[in-house]
Amino acid sequence: MKMTVKDIDVKGKRVIVRCDFNVPIDESGRITDETRVIGSLPTIRYLVEQGAKTILMSHMGRPDGAPDMKYTLQPVADSLSAHLGQKAVFVSSPTVVDEAVRAAAERLEGGQVMLLENLRFRKEETKNGEEFSKELASLAEIYVNDAFGTAHRAHASTAGIAAFLPAVSGFLIEKEVKFLGEAVENPARPLLAILGGAKVKDKIPVIENLIGKVDALIIGGGMAYTFFKAMGYEIGLSILDEDSVGLANSLADAARAKGVEFILPVDVKAALAFDNDAEAGYCDADKIPADRMGLDIGPKSIELFTSVIKKAKTIIWNGPMGVFEKPNFAAGTLAVAQAMAASDAVTIIGGGDSAAAVEQFGLGEKMSHISTGGGASLEFLEGRTLPGIAVIKDK
Ligand code: AMP
Repeated sequence: MKMTVKDIDVKGKRVIVRCDFNVPIDESGRITDETRVIGSLPTIRYLVEQGAKTILMSHMGRPDGAPDMKYTLQPVADSLSAHLGQKAVFVSSPTVVDEAVRAAAERLEGGQVMLLENLRFRKEETKNGEEFSKELASLAEIYVNDAFGTAHRAHASTAGIAAFLPAVSGFLIEKEVKFLGEAVENPARPLLAILGGAKVKDKIPVIENLIGKVDALIIGGGMAYTFFKAMGYEIGLSILDEDSVGLANSLADAARAKGVEFILPVDVKAALAFDNDAEAGYCDADKIPADRMGLDIGPKSIELFTSVIKKAKTIIWNGPMGVFEKPNFAAGTLAVAQAMAASDAVTIIGGGDSAAAVEQFGLGEKMSHISTGGGASLEFLEGRTLPGIAVIKDK
């Protein structure tokens, strides 16, 4: 178990918190989706209530290691002030930390909040530069990591800083570790993983790790066609990762050898082109016409997947079942989301596209946990140690 802000005394202490304020900003500098700011509020509010002197930090976008006011965190400061009902003092510095920033941190009183400028104005941030870690650490007495989305990166603000300050987690990371950790290490069974999306290579390490842990594994989405190819099926113009065909075969064999129920789509919706309005129809998975591409799973697959979902007690889902961004190929992804929403199981959405899909369908509230980090949750499911979590003290 990792220590959280609740396990230490923060009253009157300067506490520096790594948040994930990597929000989308429009051309006029307005935040178009405040989900990440809102997600960070429970930890910040707790610190405020406890009388801590709270210093927040985050990256946003890719300013390439140099100051670029297109990526200033000013809009985040405004949004925080509005949500908190108190001013989040923003001290914008091209070097993130300087004398004025240090003085502002010194002046903070218990219950006050300040925000640093975009961490990626400094190239040392993503290089985990020791000097920058020290500069950040010098502002505070305690370090809190609450940015799960960057926990898989060893950066100055996510890992390096913990060499100089006692490190604990915030409530967001606590929740991620609880749900993802329990799902993999101590799940209510049967444990089902549903993997989809287009990039087979990204998911292979996940499949390898999960084969030893899950009771059932569903492979859908673009990935399935590489498995079909490995089985000798005609896949027409469907997306294929040629290099992974051999591995797909051995993964399927390894799963079956471990007694894992290994489930692929049995039918697909195949179209003449990668276009929402292209002529499309259903066919069995082993009968895809040579001039068509499979862009969604078909009704028989939906029925099959739904029946497997109904039996599961823990479900982890990462990756859409089809090209869900195009309405004519979203039915499979919607059906999986609906089946999960209707289930009593612990339901976990592994970030990225599946999280976007679930929110788009308005089913977010029905899931036990939606991970805030696509890449980080995948690495977690691969069984890898995330640097930003490894640095947090154990209880
Ligand atoms: P990934 O980043 O690997 O999770 O892939 C997500 C993307 O996979 C989404 O943008 C989907 O549109 C895409 N996708 C899902 N199914 C298919 C398919 N059958 N063919 C092509 N792309 C797909």
